[in-house]
Amino acid sequence: MESANHLDHQEYGAIERAPLPRNMIENSMFEEEPDVVDLAKESPSYPIDSDDVVYEPRTSRLLVRGLGENDLDEDEEDYESSARLLGMSFMNRSSNQRSASSSYTRHQPSGSCSKPSAKTMVVGVLILVVLVSLFMVIYFVPGCTFTRSCPKTNSTMERIAPISTSGELFPWTELRLPSSVHPVHYDISLHPDLNRMTFQGSVSIKVEVLHETKIIVLHSSDMNITKATFQGKVVHVLEYKPWQQIAIKFPEDLEKGPYVLNLDYTANFSNSYDGFYNSSYVDTTGTKRVLAATQFEPLAARKAFPCFDEPAFKSTFLIKITRESKYISLSNMPKVKTTDLKNDLQEDEFKESDIMSTYLVAFIVAEFSSYSTTVSNTTVSVYAVPDKKEQVHYALEAAAKLLKFYNKFFEIDYPLSKLDLVAIPDFLAGAMENWGLITFRETTLLVGNNSSPIDKQLVTSVIAHELAHQWFGNLVTMRWWNDLWLNEGFATYMQYLSIDTVFPDLDIDTEFLNVRFKALAKDALNSSHPVSTLVSTPEQVEEMFDSVSYEKGASILLMLNATLKDGEFRKGVIEYLQKYNRSNTESEDLWNSLSQVSKQNVSVSEMMNTWTVHKGFPLVTVKRNGTQVTLSQEHFLLNAENCTDNSLWHIPLTFVNDSCSVLSSCKQVFHLKDKTAILKLPGPVKWLKFNFRSDGFYIVHYDVEGWRALIDALNVDVNVLPYEDRAALINNLFALSRLGKVSFRQVLNLMEYIRNETETAPLTEALSQLGQIYRLLDKRSELNLASRMTSYIDDHFGSLMESQSWKLEISVSKMTLRSALLEMACSLNRLNCTTQAKHLFDQWVNSNKTFQIPSDLMRTVFKVAALTDDGWDVLLNSYKHSIYDSEKRKTLEALASTQDVRKIIWILQKSLDGSEIQTQEFPLVIHTICKNFAGYLYAWDFLKENWEKITQKFPVGSFAIQSIIMSATSQFSTKTHLMEAQNFFSSLGAKGSQMRIVQEATETIKQNMRWMESNLGTLQHWL
Ligand SMILES: [Zn+2]
Repeated sequence: MESANHLDHQEYGAIERAPLPRNMIENSMFEEEPDVVDLAKESPSYPIDSDDVVYEPRTSRLLVRGLGENDLDEDEEDYESSARLLGMSFMNRSSNQRSASSSYTRHQPSGSCSKPSAKTMVVGVLILVVLVSLFMVIYFVPGCTFTRSCPKTNSTMERIAPISTSGELFPWTELRLPSSVHPVHYDISLHPDLNRMTFQGSVSIKVEVLHETKIIVLHSSDMNITKATFQGKVVHVLEYKPWQQIAIKFPEDLEKGPYVLNLDYTANFSNSYDGFYNSSYVDTTGTKRVLAATQFEPLAARKAFPCFDEPAFKSTFLIKITRESKYISLSNMPKVKTTDLKNDLQEDEFKESDIMSTYLVAFIVAEFSSYSTTVSNTTVSVYAVPDKKEQVHYALEAAAKLLKFYNKFFEIDYPLSKLDLVAIPDFLAGAMENWGLITFRETTLLVGNNSSPIDKQLVTSVIAHELAHQWFGNLVTMRWWNDLWLNEGFATYMQYLSIDTVFPDLDIDTEFLNVRFKALAKDALNSSHPVSTLVSTPEQVEEMFDSVSYEKGASILLMLNATLKDGEFRKGVIEYLQKYNRSNTESEDLWNSLSQVSKQNVSVSEMMNTWTVHKGFPLVTVKRNGTQVTLSQEHFLLNAENCTDNSLWHIPLTFVNDSCSVLSSCKQVFHLKDKTAILKLPGPVKWLKFNFRSDGFYIVHYDVEGWRALIDALNVDVNVLPYEDRAALINNLFALSRLGKVSFRQVLNLMEYIRNETETAPLTEALSQLGQIYRLLDKRSELNLASRMTSYIDDHFGSLMESQSWKLEISVSKMTLRSALLEMACSLNRLNCTTQAKHLFDQWVNSNKTFQIPSDLMRTVFKVAALTDDGWDVLLNSYKHSIYDSEKRKTLEALASTQDVRKIIWILQKSLDGSEIQTQEFPLVIHTICKNFAGYLYAWDFLKENWEKITQKFPVGSFAIQSIIMSATSQFSTKTHLMEAQNFFSSLGAKGSQMRIVQEATETIKQNMRWMESNLGTLQHWL
């Protein structure tokens, strides 16, 4: 799956990496102590119905009015009253929202550096008391009080017996299914009714009993089973809803051997984005169209048909779909026949599938059009709604080229005779790799006439990622979700590797470098987790779809590939795919395959385990004395007080020196496995630069002399190091300043060289880092410092900003740079920038939108335009009618970056209810609004008030929720806000407060506070 997090990064990378939201409106708004509009009283002047404005943010008003942290005291009592003052009703909320059936708990990973607070300990003791009492009650109740018979099980949970819906004892007590029964084949018949939003299904499952057993347990969620037979005889089905399991009990043991279980059922379409769900869109004639599609990964196949829904239960599938004749149906395999039924219905039957996991099954019923081509023996087709049929050509060409590449690279041909890529109008993930039927968001597959190469870079990346999954994931699958990174890390790495070869013009290396920096930032937090992590509950499984599985996974594979000799990595991968073709694996299996082909002295398995078992990454410190270099490693951990973490990594440490520093042949390697080691240089050097091209997943710190020598060298000639190294020096030094290892003054020292920099990667990294600090200053209302930061950026980047062209550009690298620079320039209100932007917007409007604004500048232009009421209205109208999805998204970002509070709230409401803005865009809307001073507190209030509704749409733990929470809180840097956030999250009960992203959010706020406290002085002095 391509997560939307990742997609967001790609999609609005420029703003992520270079935003400066402050402008005069924001400044004046704060300085004048804004009289917050009372939404209930004032009637807005544009498409906001009075009914819409029922939402009245409370907290924000008080916070905006300047209830500063100084007004609050540390102790609990004051906090309580402050909470009341802030209008928080968390006590009520917590009782409403606590989920009764949650089994969600988190085990603190080893090597964690946290100290429980007094409050936590009190809560902990209370919980313990409750648990002990519960245990005693259950223990002392005479055995089998609840039912007539007791299940035989050695589970530790044997005394906590789940009760099925019918009141009988449910005969299985674990989240994972028993291994005694395996599915072999499914015959699935489905009849979706797109008018009634329901479907009927029947499934016949051939199973193999491997060990004698009295029970068969499988998954089923939200469906009504109308008939069940086993070997032709009617059987009684028990259901345990909290774990989405059903079971059949038998009086006698079932002998080993094959059996058949038949289940008939009915269900409603899912109203979230997973399972078998319906989606709708309005076509260009204004007619509403509906379609039904599936999204099963990770745990939603069970919402469409009863099944053994774990990745290791692979089997074959034969699917039949009944539909009205106006629709087409698609599934993983090619269609073999269509039968006419009565009432204008037809039944499509698809070929029996390869052996595969349930999460990869897919089907769609819709009115779609397509174009096709052929690669080897595979028919490749791209489908879209008829209005957008002509936007599929780029994707078709890219998919064909990439399929050829992978067929050759893996030396195993794509095994199916067809490969469909389908753009779904309302789809939450970036894309999903269902075998033979890959589903995409429209933005990640369709390319319109005026799409830029940056839009194409996104589409190509997502296609490359999903195609890689056809091997990594579909052909060879992780045994359980703890090793999700085997799927996602690999697909992410292969997406960069394949594009670098097949589409060198797309400048994907710079993008991959940014992705690695982003992964380092996330993994530096104590709330991070090892690449391979124990997971069991559904929420924990959802949470695995994060930056660690995707981006860190890809980064450590790059590091390994860069360490092995040429060709060894590919050889090992081929060996692995051949050996485990159509089966399931764990991390160790991959390392073993790579170890076998590696001719090096290091054991791949021994080295790589240190990167998958420990969370975080190492900080390498380099101290040079003449030719003797002392190297040491420690865990790079932000917020690390009282930390006793002794994790050691096996680091393939690469380095270059002043005499040879640019070519790959200059690279030398030293394996640092211990806490410290001495490296003897053969002769004297002026300087050393470690982590050549930033291929390794670690940060490097030098002694004072070491840093000075590198900075001096850059000041003399920027080309003394490759651009990746320059970007990495900037990234690492900012990170070290966050860790408290260097002062901000040292960061500014390095930044002096930037006036001579011309490459995209170092410039966008610098803009991104400065932008982050600016935003924090801005939201703390450090107005003086924020304006000095503005001057600093002006001084260092101003001439580059002025020299950017506003015409069509073809180089991706130049586009990435200019969109970052100009977006910042306009947000700083540089006159040249806003004048040009307005000029382009006027030309666009006057030409009835036929004038082509360069696609990479569209967001910048629209954002300037959206600041006026007229411009905003034009954009809203355009948003509603455009059939170009990437343009629509840029338009939406502009709409959401308005300073007008009424508009902000209107957008929040409309994107959550999905009426005028698709709900799939809600995370993007929150993200954009939170960047601006005008809206971030409103967005936070909105999140709190609508939490229940939000989590109905976006599952707890999912990447969408991760993104929403981080967007809403990562701008906080004061104690007031920390308490606000902690208070809200703890009110959510077990399901919400235990999310890893909640820990990440509070940790990020604390980190922001700490950085501000220790660097405000330096900023005062040096900016
Ligand atoms: Zn993926």
